[in-house]
Amino acid sequence: MALVVAKFGGSSVATAERIKNVASRLVARHRAGDQVVAVVSAMGDNTDYLVDLARSINTNPPKREMDMLLSTGEQVSVAVLAMAVEALGVPAISHTGAQVGIYTDDTHTAAKIDHISAEHIRDDLSEGRIVIVAGFQGINSRGEITTLGRGGSDTTAVALAAAIQADFCEIYSDVDGVYTADPRICPRAHRIDKLSYEEMLELSSNGAGVLQLRAVEFARKYGVVIHALSSFVTDSPGTFVMKAEDIMTNDSMEGPVISGVAHDLSEAKITLRHVPDIRGVAAMLFERMAELNVNVDMIIQDISHEGLTDISFTAPLNDVEKLTPACKELSETIKADGVEINTHIAKVSLVGAGMKSYPGVSAKMFRVLADNGVNISMISTSPIRISIIIDADQCELAVRALHTAFGLDDEDSSGSVKVVR
Ligand code: ADP
Ligand code: ASP
Ligand code: MG
Repeated sequence: MALVVAKFGGSSVATAERIKNVASRLVARHRAGDQVVAVVSAMGDNTDYLVDLARSINTNPPKREMDMLLSTGEQVSVAVLAMAVEALGVPAISHTGAQVGIYTDDTHTAAKIDHISAEHIRDDLSEGRIVIVAGFQGINSRGEITTLGRGGSDTTAVALAAAIQADFCEIYSDVDGVYTADPRICPRAHRIDKLSYEEMLELSSNGAGVLQLRAVEFARKYGVVIHALSSFVTDSPGTFVMKAEDIMTNDSMEGPVISGVAHDLSEAKITLRHVPDIRGVAAMLFERMAELNVNVDMIIQDISHEGLTDISFTAPLNDVEKLTPACKELSETIKADGVEINTHIAKVSLVGAGMKSYPGVSAKMFRVLADNGVNISMISTSPIRISIIIDADQCELAVRALHTAFGLDDEDSSGSVKVVR
């Protein structure tokens, strides 16, 4: 008998039919003797709908009220999934984050889980029920509803798996695992069997939305093995995300140099032109961004010419509105030559633990891009990643060209459908 946490994303519960499909899976698992805790997202694009609704009413809605609103999406899914399970003759019970005891800090819309009191779940399981928990939400110490940030149901699942010491944490979506690139834009991408936490962190933080970054961070911290699977395909082994050491001992000593290519179209590039090259300017700029809670990603400062330099950085597109006035004000204060904002950029990243001990990866990457007519405007690296900023129109071309050049193409499946919507 295993204790399983299984998370189903929005596409897996988008319709009544799909909810029944998830219920059958849970029931089959239960009848096979496992104890099952399901974590569920809002149905389909319901969260997007609720976000749009809020913004159409108030362009800057209070964050507490956003949490109140967005948490309703998951509340709908857990209730109907519990009904679907009961209809198949197995007792089920749904819980909101608050009911199950997922305690968070006070940061509305981006709360961090503080602790989970899992007694309810244990009691329900011991009574033979399938337990269904609303993803993405919790409660702070004052009893206020909080949410964990977009894609947060993945984090709920991993945190619950850690709290109840589950044997498996399965994350079901519309794709049967983590691929070497987003299969939606790279038809030759193939499923990866096993990935280290470090590689998955780099992929997730650079646009591979199949697993939420914070969920992977949580999994690494608590040693939870994530098993990414499709809720529509039943015969795929999926992808395991686990400790690098465990991958090494079980499999061939040397993995591929490059594990995958990620892309991200959700950032903008901001440049302050002809900034006087004096001490403290970068500090002023980025302190201001920190005050505004802007998550700055890449930063580049060129060497100065005649005492003037350009500073460029990338930040989420969603933050452009709030950072623009601050950057303009600072540009005037420090007598720079103005601010340029490019919202039409893509970040493309090559990720692979093998690149640490394999020279020439960046040279090859830049050559492939040059040969394909792709101009690079920023570069950043980590020991296992190289990221570049390019024009958004060239994103697909760059991902596909790099995927081919680094030997990642799946020759058998070009053009086959891998994502079910
Ligand atoms: P859910 O709504 O179930 O949480 P998501 O939409 O968050 O599912 O994640 C699944 C999607 O992630 C896929 O449809 C796919 O387009 C996208 N994706 C991006 N990069 C990758 C990748 N490297 N491997 C697999 N899927 C990816
Ligand atoms: N429903 C939330 C969202 O769409 C949380 C999740 O699906 O993980 O972001
Ligand atoms: Mg997701």
